[in-house]
Amino acid sequence: MDLARRLRLRPGDRVHLADVDAAGTHGFEKGDDLDKALAKNLARLDELQYVMYAEHRRALLVVLQGMDASGKDGTIRHVMSGFNPQGCRVTSFKMPTPVELAHDFLWRVHQVAPGKGDVAIFNRSHYEDVVVVRVHKLVPVSVWKRRYDHINDFERQLADNEVVIVKVFLHISKDEQKQRLLRRLEDPKRHWKVSLSDFEDRKRWKDYQRAYEDAITECNTKEAPWYVVPADKKWFRNLAVSQILVETLEALDMRFPKPTVDLASIKLDA
Ligand code: AMP
Ligand code: MG
Repeated sequence: MDLARRLRLRPGDRVHLADVDAAGTHGFEKGDDLDKALAKNLARLDELQYVMYAEHRRALLVVLQGMDASGKDGTIRHVMSGFNPQGCRVTSFKMPTPVELAHDFLWRVHQVAPGKGDVAIFNRSHYEDVVVVRVHKLVPVSVWKRRYDHINDFERQLADNEVVIVKVFLHISKDEQKQRLLRRLEDPKRHWKVSLSDFEDRKRWKDYQRAYEDAITECNTKEAPWYVVPADKKWFRNLAVSQILVETLEALDMRFPKPTVDLASIKLDA
């Protein structure tokens, strides 16, 4: 399908989010075949994770970022269900606690980086520390600017430790965000999702887009690439993210380890 390569930002390229069609589907159309394609990807993810767990050598880190209502939770619900909960952990990064704030910004992140054989999914991440922190002026410019280097060093260190890093920006349009926020106001089953800060942050849409463009551009490396996924259409988002994960894991050419015992020597009692 080659979708992953098409959505991956090349190192050195600058992303202009306004030029990326948030409703784009790369030639795919909604229909039955898509449900099958997604189901096939989820089954494949299950197999690939199984080998990764058995191999106990590599780890997978999936970073999900995006504006409010961009579908981070939905992506986890619909795509990450392909992973066996044993060996998979989701971490949602919220406003840092006082203890977290007393440490460097990567402290809370490093603790939940995946160990060998494991999958870690970040619902928001250390990128908040160069995005929301910048937009809301929570630290001086001189502080957040230096964080791009810190992030690149940190991610390189993880990669050197055989952590495979996939960073996904779920790209929605301002209009689609409006529709989704309205739905939250109207649908009693979505009322729990309503957060005043989402409506406040929407007023700073441009500032957020700029902060994201800079973060994605500055921290896009060969070992930790960014994927900009058009996310106005949930079915395309799910297909694209599942496809990126399948293609990434397949490229690792993982193998089951050799047995640690001489199987022929084992005799089973009657
Ligand atoms: P949500 O994920 O929508 O439930 O909300 C979590 C909130 O925590 C978002 O508004 C994030 O921007 C905010 N948040 C996450 N990490 C940080 C951070 N490092 N500094 C400030 N706010 C953060
Ligand atoms: Mg928010």
